[in-house]
Amino acid sequence: MFEVALQCIACGKSFDLRDHYLCDRCQGILEVQYDYASLKGKPAEQLVPAPAAGIWRYQSFLPVHSESSMVTLYEGGTPLVHAANLGRALGHEPLYCKDETRNPSGAFKDRPISVGVSKAVELGFDTVTTASSGNGAASLSIYAAKAGLRCIVFVPEKTPMAKVAHAVTAGATVVRVRGDYSNSYALAGAASARYRWMNITTTFLNPYTFEGDKTVAYELYRQLEGSAPDWIIIPTGAGPLLYGTCKGFEELNRLGLLDKLPRMVAVQAEGCQPIVRAFEKNRPVAAWEAVDTVASAIADPLRGYEKDGDLVVRTIRKSNGQAVAASDAEIIESVRELAEREGLFVEPAAAAPISALKKLLQKGLIRQNEKVVCLLTGHGLKDPQSSIRGREVPLVDPGIEGLEKLNLGNR
Ligand SMILES: *Cc1c(COP(=O)(O)O)cnc(C)c1O
Repeated sequence: MFEVALQCIACGKSFDLRDHYLCDRCQGILEVQYDYASLKGKPAEQLVPAPAAGIWRYQSFLPVHSESSMVTLYEGGTPLVHAANLGRALGHEPLYCKDETRNPSGAFKDRPISVGVSKAVELGFDTVTTASSGNGAASLSIYAAKAGLRCIVFVPEKTPMAKVAHAVTAGATVVRVRGDYSNSYALAGAASARYRWMNITTTFLNPYTFEGDKTVAYELYRQLEGSAPDWIIIPTGAGPLLYGTCKGFEELNRLGLLDKLPRMVAVQAEGCQPIVRAFEKNRPVAAWEAVDTVASAIADPLRGYEKDGDLVVRTIRKSNGQAVAASDAEIIESVRELAEREGLFVEPAAAAPISALKKLLQKGLIRQNEKVVCLLTGHGLKDPQSSIRGREVPLVDPGIEGLEKLNLGNR
C-alpha cells in the first residue's frame, strides 16, 4: 500500500511498479521500496496487527494498491507451537515451530504467491506461470483458480506426485521439465517472455513475491509479544523466505517497533547446498552440480542465478547467523521426531531445521535460554513416500489369531 518504486539492490537504478524482473542495466535483483517516512509514527497495532488468517492484514507493507486486486485464500496466520516434548528431548526447551503446513495449499508458498497473483490481477495479466519444485506450482494453481487466471507451471521431472496432482486438479497446465529445478526456471523465464505471461516464480526473480514472505516476521513479532526470537532456522532453496523474513524484522526495527533482530540460519540438504558451501568457504556461490536429496522442496542448484545465493549469504552474515547442511538420513529422522513427539507431520525439507538445530546445539552456538523458531514450511502429505520408506506396515487376516503374531499385547 505504501510502495513507491522498484530499485536494483546492486546498482540502485529505479523502476516503476510494473512487470520488471531483473535490472536491465546490471541484471541485479529488484526490490520494492516503501514510503517508510509516512508509516513512521503510526501505532504498532495498526501497522502490525495480531495475526489472524490472511496476510493482507499487513497490507501497509505489501506492494498491492487496490483491495479489489487482493487475492486471498486466508493464507498466513499460522500457529507458533511450543515444541516442548521435542525441545526436552534435544535439551533445548525454548523451541518453537511455526506451522506453515496450515496454509491453504499446505506450504508457506501461499504467502509469496498470494502477493504475486494479486499483482498480476492489478497489472491486468490473464495468464500466470511459475517454475517450482512442486509447492509453488500447487500454490499458484489454487490462487489462479480463485482469481480466474490461466495457470501454466513448470516443474522438475522428479517432483512428488501429490504436488503435481494438486496443481492439475486445480486446473493448471503442468509441464514437467527434464533435469533439475534450474532447467524449469530457465524455461518458465523464456515462456513468460515469449507469451507475455506474468512470471510468479518464487525465487528473487519476481520482486513482488518475496514481499509476501515478510509476513512471517510480522506474525512472529506479535506471537512473541512485540519481540523477535533469538534464532530463526529456515529451510533454504533460493532463499527468499529467509531474506523476506529478515527484511520484515528489519522494517519493524526501522519503524522503531523492535530493537533486537533475530539471527538467521539457512539449512540445506547435503545433496544440494550451494549456499552453505559458499558460507563455509567464504566465497561466491557456485551452481550445485549433481542434485541428490530427498528434500526436493529445497533442491535448487541456482544455476544461472547464483547471485541470488550471494544475497542470502550476505543476509545471513549481516544477522550474525549460520548456514548448515543436513544429510537425507538426518532429515528423515527429524521428520519422524516431529511427528512422533509433536504430532507435526511435515515433508522432508520442512524437517531440516530440526536437523540443523541439533548441530548448532552440539557446537554450542545456541545458548540455553535463547528462543529458537523453526519454520516448518510444508506438509507431510505432500511427499509421504519419503517418510515411510523402509517402514513396514503389517497386513493381517481379520480375527485375533492373525493379530497375535504382532505381539501388540506386550507393552
Ligand atoms: C520453497 C520451499 C522452501 C524454500 O524456500 P526458498 O524461499 O526458495 O528458500 C522450503 N521449504 C519448502 C517446503 C518449500 O516449498
